[in-house]
Amino acid sequence: MAATPETVKRLRGRGCSVWLERQAGLRSGYADEAYAEAGAELFHGEGPEAAERWAEADVVLAVQTPGAPGAEAAAAGLEALRPEALLLGLLNPHGDHSLIERLERQRLSAVALELLPRISRAQAMDVLSSQANIAGYKAVLLAAAALDRFFPMLMTAAGTVQPARVVVLGAGVAGLQAVATARRLGALVKVSDVRPAAREQVESLGARFIEPPRLEESPGEVGGYAREAGAVFLEAQRQLLAPHLAEADVVITTAQVPGRPAPLLITREMLGLLRPGAVVVDLAVGQGGNCAGSRSDATVDVDGVTVIGAGNLPASLPQHASALYARNLAALLEVLIQEGELRLDPEDPLLDPCLLSHAGVCRRDDLRPARSGQEVAA
Ligand code: NAD
Repeated sequence: MAATPETVKRLRGRGCSVWLERQAGLRSGYADEAYAEAGAELFHGEGPEAAERWAEADVVLAVQTPGAPGAEAAAAGLEALRPEALLLGLLNPHGDHSLIERLERQRLSAVALELLPRISRAQAMDVLSSQANIAGYKAVLLAAAALDRFFPMLMTAAGTVQPARVVVLGAGVAGLQAVATARRLGALVKVSDVRPAAREQVESLGARFIEPPRLEESPGEVGGYAREAGAVFLEAQRQLLAPHLAEADVVITTAQVPGRPAPLLITREMLGLLRPGAVVVDLAVGQGGNCAGSRSDATVDVDGVTVIGAGNLPASLPQHASALYARNLAALLEVLIQEGELRLDPEDPLLDPCLLSHAGVCRRDDLRPARSGQEVAA
C-alpha cells in the first residue's frame, strides 16, 4: 500500500485531500475505518465515482504503475488522469518499455522511485532500502525454515551442535540485513561484495569479508552502486567463492547492478559443490538471478540443494512493507508540496534523476527502448 492511516494524517496536515480506494489496505492490515478516521475519503474502485476521482487527482501514489502486470485493476484509472497529474511509484523504468511513450501521450509527470538519488537528503524517501531491508530479513527466515539443521550453536545433552554457515553474496541493503538476521540466529556468516567500502560494514556486523579478486579490471563503484563486472572478473570471483560454497549450509544471493542483469555468481557446476540439504535463496532472481536454475517465486531441488527464487519478498510482510513504503512517499511529498501547492523543480538534485517526465516532457531519453537498426534506418 502506498498510504497508511499514519501517512494519510501527515498528508492531511499538509493541507492535502486524500482519496483512497475502499478495502485497498485490507491485505496490508489496514481497515477502511482507520483510514477514514485519519481523514481519508473512501471511494469504490470501479464505476463513475472511481473515474471521477482519478480524473480530479493532482497526485497518484502507487506501488507499481497502474495497469502494469500485477496492477491491472487500475488501468482505466491511469487513462483517466488529467494532463500534468503526477504519478509517484516504483514504475520499473528500465523494464517497462511503454512507460515514457505513455507519459508523453497523456502529458503526465512521473517520479520513478527506483531512480531517487542515494544522497543523505533522500534517505527518508529511499524505497529501495526500505523494501530491500525486508527482503534480506525474510530471505534468512525462508532459508532457516527450509534448512535441515539448526542455525545457532547449541550445547545439548547429546553433545554440541555447531552453528550453521551462511554465505551472503552482495552486501547492499538486503545483504547487510541478511547478515544481521543470520547473526541474530547464531550463524557464522561470510560475505562477498565487489565494492571495497562493503568490508567495514560487513565486519561491523560480526561477519567475515571475502576479498574480491585483485585484478586491474575491477568493477568498483559509482554513486554507491557496483559497476557491472566483466567476464574475466566474474570468472575469477566464482573461483574465489567456490571453497566457501563448499562449506556453506545456506547461501543468500543479493548481488545486483542497477539497470543491468544480475551477475551469475553460482553456476550449475558450482551448485554441485554445495552439500545435499543446503539452501540457496536468490533475491536477484527478478534480474536474471545470481544462481543458475533459480526461478522466480519457485523452489527447485537441484541434486538435493534447495534453490528458492525469491522474487518479491516485501509482499510477504505487507504490513511493514506498506508502513515503510508509505512513509517514504510521504517524506517525498512533504518536499514537493510547498505552501499547499505541488511544486516540481526539475533542477532539484533530488528530482533530477528520478523525474521521468514533467507535464509530458520526457527528461530521461536514455530510458526509451533502444531502436532496432531497421527502425533507425527507416
Ligand atoms: P544493489 O541492490 O544495487 O546491489 C546489492 C549489492 O550487490 C551491492 O552491494 C553491490 O555492490 C553488490 N554486487 C554487485 N555486483 C556484485 C558481484 N559481482 N559480486 C558481489 N556483489 C556484487 O545495492 P543496494 O542495496 O541498493 O545498495 C547500493 C549501495 O548504496 C550500498 O553502498 C548502500 O550502502 C548504499 N546506499 C546508500 C544510501 C544513501 O546514502 N542514502 C541508501 C541506501 C543504500
